[in-house]
Amino acid sequence: MTITLITGANKGIGFETARQLIALGHTVYLGARDAERGEKAAAELGARFVQLDVTDDASVSGALAVVDAAEGRLDVLVNNAGVLGEKAVDGPYALHVFDVNAVGLIRVTEAALPLLRKSSNPTVVTLSSSLGSFWAVTNPERPEFGLPLALYSASKAAATMLTVQYAKSEPGIRFNALEPGTTATDMTAAFGIGRPVEESAKTVVRLATLAADGPTGTFTDEHGTLSW
Ligand code: NAP
Repeated sequence: MTITLITGANKGIGFETARQLIALGHTVYLGARDAERGEKAAAELGARFVQLDVTDDASVSGALAVVDAAEGRLDVLVNNAGVLGEKAVDGPYALHVFDVNAVGLIRVTEAALPLLRKSSNPTVVTLSSSLGSFWAVTNPERPEFGLPLALYSASKAAATMLTVQYAKSEPGIRFNALEPGTTATDMTAAFGIGRPVEESAKTVVRLATLAADGPTGTFTDEHGTLSW
């Protein structure tokens, strides 16, 4: 049985990823910062709810302690929780956006590492974004060129870099970052864009189910390698 933890999985791409991985036989720990929303989502899917706010060290260590007590290891971590950070560009708000999108990844990954090291096939998937690609945001041919989401882009660039650095420092664990494709979720609702979560979650599932000899330190979308 594959033991999987997904952050921010009470809705959107994280929720659908949980649904698809459960269908493949994974035991999924569904992380959500809000207990009511998380318990409802977990019950709907047959997942196990863990309270997990990626900005709160005690919450993160508590969630991993639950997985440790029940399973003694973690096979798959999906760093999915994220915020768009479109409301302002100022210090306090930047701290919040980076806290969720970049520092949260460090909090959860650091707490998960001891359990991942106990897995025979450990893998970490990070929901980054092509908006964090220097190549995409400087290329007038790409849609990212015209989207002024400075905090989101910068914090996702950090998330991709952290993935690469973890891949180097933890060669026994695969770390891969991805762009899921523009998806219709609460995050993109104001723009009225995006495809169904079912399509985008397939890209997450592909990386979450890599064989032990699969790649590490990559940044991809469904078409293949994305330029940094
Ligand atoms: P979403 O529907 O808004 O879901 C975001 C999830 O993150 C929610 O479950 C939310 O929980 C959770 N979250 C926010 N702050 C959190 C915190 N402090 N601790 C724990 N969970 C927190 O967005 P989505 O589109 O599914 O996005 C999922 C991931 O894909 C994000 O990392 C996003 O950046 C990335 N992505 C999305 C797109 C797209 O087109 N949608 C494109 C590229 C990348 P609450 O319900 O409690 O707020």
